Amino acid sequence: MHQSEQTTTSSQPAQRWSRQQIDALFAKPFMDLVFEAQQVHRQHFKPNQVQVSTLLSIKTGACPEDCKYCPQSARYDTGLEKERLMQVETVLEAAQRAKAIGSTRFCMGAAWRNPKDRDMPYIIKMIEGVRELGMETCMTLGMLSPQQAMVLKEAGLDYYNHNLDTSAEFYDQIITTRTYADRLNTLDSVRQSGMKVCSGGIVGMGEDASDRTGLLLQLANLEQPPESVPINMLVKVAGTPMADAEDLDPFDFIRCIAVARIVMPGSHVRLSAGREDMNEQMQALCFMAGANSIFYGEKLLTTGNPDAERDQMLFQRLGITPEAVEDYSDDVHQAVAEEAIERQRQPARDAELFYDAS
Ligand code: SF4
Repeated sequence: MHQSEQTTTSSQPAQRWSRQQIDALFAKPFMDLVFEAQQVHRQHFKPNQVQVSTLLSIKTGACPEDCKYCPQSARYDTGLEKERLMQVETVLEAAQRAKAIGSTRFCMGAAWRNPKDRDMPYIIKMIEGVRELGMETCMTLGMLSPQQAMVLKEAGLDYYNHNLDTSAEFYDQIITTRTYADRLNTLDSVRQSGMKVCSGGIVGMGEDASDRTGLLLQLANLEQPPESVPINMLVKVAGTPMADAEDLDPFDFIRCIAVARIVMPGSHVRLSAGREDMNEQMQALCFMAGANSIFYGEKLLTTGNPDAERDQMLFQRLGITPEAVEDYSDDVHQAVAEEAIERQRQPARDAELFYDAS
């Protein structure tokens, strides 16, 4: 049986992939690759549903790490306004707005090397508050120890995001302040705690084709692949070392989405940073290639994201509806999902409500 015909769910051990197999997928003619990805997609997901998350930066800038693409690093002068850890109340107000525009998952990101013990009580309150709204919770706070992962899990955190960014081979050209092994250790701590893993990478940083294979190989061959795989297109921010990176061929980006879909058939593949630079036709091709998750609403950490109203219009034109909250059957979560679907049917009315409320 072909690899892609095998059923993978988060509870089953994943298929192991070889570098040659992934290289062979990348080498396929574009239409064949996208067609295969769409077939795999339809075996595992409803074809016209996309999961919708909102991402909020809860602590912005002044990060001690040196990720060369990131405007939040303290090492680059990007004019980004730094902000301390947000008040819990402010975070919960943003979560309420996200829920009102149809998001079912609220992701909170802090520009830290790792969370400090003094921050944990506030972080826990944020997780509890967002859960009380009936939304799924996700955080990205840097490296985690096994103990910190357990604390977050016990507070009710559903997902933890920690990207591998690129291949192990290309990694030290992008980041020198933490190692690839550090990242894998954090992913392991998250997995061991019982939280769901969100991990992906960035395309367009000057990596070559073998690095894209290397990234997807690493993710797909984790003991259990991430439930959520964000594939970002580099946003070139002035002041960062990546400001003048060579433009990425949009078809190469779509190929990455398609290969991610095929090698991680049970994962949500997320169209993440860089979506603002994609026209609607390119986004539609990404959905065709198997992307089934997006961020919308609040700013995507510190770079722009198409606003919710435009996204709702695009969903309507493509006949896409937001996916219901996963793995929940209780009334609160179901109600949130139904609300989101209902709102999707009335984008204009929603937009009015959203702007009235803010
Ligand atoms: S990507 Fe994260 S860890 Fe790296 S500099 Fe930006 S905020 Fe810091």
